[in-house]
Amino acid sequence: MRDEFLPFAPPSITRAEIDEVVDALESGWITTGPRTKAFEGELAAYLGAPAALALSSGTAALHLALVLADIGPGDEVITTTLTFTATVAVIEHVGARPVLVDVEPDTLNLDPDAVAAAVTERTRAVIAVHYGGHPCDLDRLESICREHDLLLVEDAAHALPARYRGRLVGSGDNPAAFSFYATKNLTTAEGGLLTGDPQMIERGIVASLHGMDRDAWKRHDKGGSWRYDVVMPGFKYNMTDLQAAIGLQQLRRLDGFLARRREVAAAYTAALAPLDAFDLPSEREDCASAWHLYPVRLKPGALPVTRDDFMTGMRDRNIGTSVHFIPIHTFTYYRDKYGYRPEDFPVALDAGDRAVSLPLHPDLSDDDVADVVAAIRDLAGRA
Ligand SMILES: *Cc1c(COP(=O)(O)O)cnc(C)c1O
Repeated sequence: MRDEFLPFAPPSITRAEIDEVVDALESGWITTGPRTKAFEGELAAYLGAPAALALSSGTAALHLALVLADIGPGDEVITTTLTFTATVAVIEHVGARPVLVDVEPDTLNLDPDAVAAAVTERTRAVIAVHYGGHPCDLDRLESICREHDLLLVEDAAHALPARYRGRLVGSGDNPAAFSFYATKNLTTAEGGLLTGDPQMIERGIVASLHGMDRDAWKRHDKGGSWRYDVVMPGFKYNMTDLQAAIGLQQLRRLDGFLARRREVAAAYTAALAPLDAFDLPSEREDCASAWHLYPVRLKPGALPVTRDDFMTGMRDRNIGTSVHFIPIHTFTYYRDKYGYRPEDFPVALDAGDRAVSLPLHPDLSDDDVADVVAAIRDLAGRA
């Protein structure tokens, strides 16, 4: 057994990130400024996004997407029950009604048939979550949205970078929200990015900083005017240059991160498939996953332990794991408010019961991967 605990998803921080943050601190400008604009611009170019706006979190990006589309009370927004709570909370924040639907059994992404069946007169938008970094069936979701005149918002928190039929997630005109939380594929400690149509992003700049028509950097820079107008009661959602400093250096390492994630995922698949004890994550023919997660689902009866005991057993063997996700409709707030029953979404419920995410991050060594596999074989009684 390994001596040191192997965390599930620690950030990968090198001297380069540290030096860039120090440079930002010493530059005299620490909040939204030149580094934020550079990070935003470089990431937009990387993604081929029509426009992009760096923000304080992925949740802020999702919330702004709904605010900018003027979604509010009386409106319905369809999304998956198998997601992080923020995806659904932002629908509540604008006063709209979240309409949860089930997922597809292979990718655990929003099921387009379930989306089509949930559309009503009041539906205004669909939030598609690219679960674990594997793109949703965007062509089918786009065609449903076109037919009913709905906005397609992508929760791309896991999907940097992910490809659907050759195009990068975040390269379209519809809003896509990325997260740079500490565990995500690229981190700024906390942070987010909204991509999409340039006109929406223009309004997003104003909405994300108090509704002021000009940001502080421009006002306080040499030649800037002190005057500003307020055109809406905006939010405080701007990214700081300290966050962007981390992001700028992470972006230079992103392709390397993805290559290593892909290698580790392939190594897990090669080692675990022969055990025939798990449903393993797969990649559809026309997709390239960002491999944010490697979630396995315990096959019923195939292991001598339950899912929860499996996770405890991994922890006892010094290996961290996690669950993605506890289905939203089983949480007290949503269950009580909307009367959901656990069995309403059987595929998601079953995934929530059987899923375990294995450690997956770019700093995993081959020895670390071997330790994870050895611990699993041990727990499976195949040591
Ligand atoms: C992390 C995450 C978010 C929220 O991102 P933050 O940057 O933490 O606000 C939203 N949706 C999903 C699916 C996530 O995993």
